[in-house]
Amino acid sequence: MPALTLIVVCSRCGGYLLAKEDQKTRTCPYCGTTVLVEKAKKLASAENAYEASEILRRLKSGTLSKQKSV
Ligand SMILES: [Zn+2]
Repeated sequence: MPALTLIVVCSRCGGYLLAKEDQKTRTCPYCGTTVLVEKAKKLASAENAYEASEILRRLKSGTLSKQKSV
């Protein structure tokens, strides 16, 4: 069974990023920070990339208020 895909929050910019459960680090696509997956705040987990992107879309449209991008 493949690893779960986690939706984690960048500790620096608060952006959402996807990481495989077995990944140690992930580079934030928004600010370039290296995010430690195990220490990052996890919002959700998904069975596959498709489900993860659906969750991500809901998070972005729902809870994320308008932020100015850098
Ligand atoms: Zn970031």
